[in-house]
Amino acid sequence: MEGVTIEEAIKITCKYPLKKKTEITSLDDSIHRILAYDIVSKVNDPRFDNSSMDGWAVRSEDCKNHGTKLEIIGTNKAGNHRSYSVQSGQACRIMTGAPMPDGADAIVIIEDSNIQENNVIINGPARTAYVRKCGENISKGDKSLSAGTMLNSAEISLSATIGYDELEVIQKPKIAIISNGDELVKPGKKLLDGQIYESNSFGLAALVKKIGCEPIRFDIVQDSIEGLRDVLDQASRTCDAILTSGGVSMGKWDLVRKIMEEEGEIKFWKIKMRPGGPPLFGKWKETPLFGLPGNPVSSHVVFTMIVFPWISYSLGFNEEKGPKLADRVNVILKNPLKGAPDKVCLRRIKITNENGILKATTKTHQGSGNINSMVVHNGLSLLPPNQDAKTGEIIEALWLR
Ligand code: AMP
Ligand code: MG
Repeated sequence: MEGVTIEEAIKITCKYPLKKKTEITSLDDSIHRILAYDIVSKVNDPRFDNSSMDGWAVRSEDCKNHGTKLEIIGTNKAGNHRSYSVQSGQACRIMTGAPMPDGADAIVIIEDSNIQENNVIINGPARTAYVRKCGENISKGDKSLSAGTMLNSAEISLSATIGYDELEVIQKPKIAIISNGDELVKPGKKLLDGQIYESNSFGLAALVKKIGCEPIRFDIVQDSIEGLRDVLDQASRTCDAILTSGGVSMGKWDLVRKIMEEEGEIKFWKIKMRPGGPPLFGKWKETPLFGLPGNPVSSHVVFTMIVFPWISYSLGFNEEKGPKLADRVNVILKNPLKGAPDKVCLRRIKITNENGILKATTKTHQGSGNINSMVVHNGLSLLPPNQDAKTGEIIEALWLR
């Protein structure tokens, strides 16, 4: 199919999903991994009624008047097994996290008390709110984390709280990254006439890592059918998906398109978006392959718009808590934006929060070869085909993370 919309492109790619495989990881190694299945709590949280303050466990009805004198019956600290029973007229000294003694329903904080020999004088309120009730945060058996959640510090801490020392996470799919072009040289090396530094593979590898997958970079391939065939064969044997960059347009040397036409299987070519019009998607020997454009902005944008949704669908990323590259927002334009004929126009915009209202401006030259435009800006407009937008207009946009 030639010339599909962004939605059609995603729909086609999702017919050929990446396989989701899982593995077990320790909590310490789980940062930024993606949970494979929902997990339920093995315990109540809190496990038992306990005090949230250092003070006195009392019966609230005993403490209506300041100056009440209560008999001290003992001390409960966190980790204590000993269970006291507080009768009317009694108090049990209690520390944060210690179990509530039977009979007590409230806490008087230590600052609101004086000790007189074996008694305590209560000078402040007895608060039931200082009792943390069994299961008030999470009940045993509750679903606590959803499949597709990217594990961050809080999720890892919660996993430990509910009894897990290891988690089943999604095995990082290996994503091959192949740059193609005679002009490309690895950064750090000497440039000869007509050569430029290869940058796409670095941007793409960073994007791949950011969403919890493993990039595998192959050496730069020259504009040669034999070279491409070799590296595609190698990548399809060792990786779960292939991203190429360069060589998919109309030029004589756009050989990724040529080899995919002749020896691979193309499911679509060209997407109605700007920048990022010329990509293709298909298979090389059963391995899904995205042929991304060579222009650095285009390859970045096509990854965000097409490759990410495919990976997210394949691996079941949670919409709210899974890996994300951008948030969809409405912004007010501070300068006019020109749309594109028959294409969604993804102009780079700088989104700022002005007193709670998101506003957007364009700052630099918007050429798809200018990767600096992705650094200076932090968003992409989602201008529908054939639509310009005026200053002051509200448009949809992606706020890049
Ligand atoms: P192509 O799609 O091969 O026609 O390339 C389009 C433009 O992107 C050309 O200006 C290339 O030099 C440039 N380009 C292609 N691949 C890369 C790459 N990996 N890194 C930086 N620029 C690239
Ligand atoms: Mg090229």
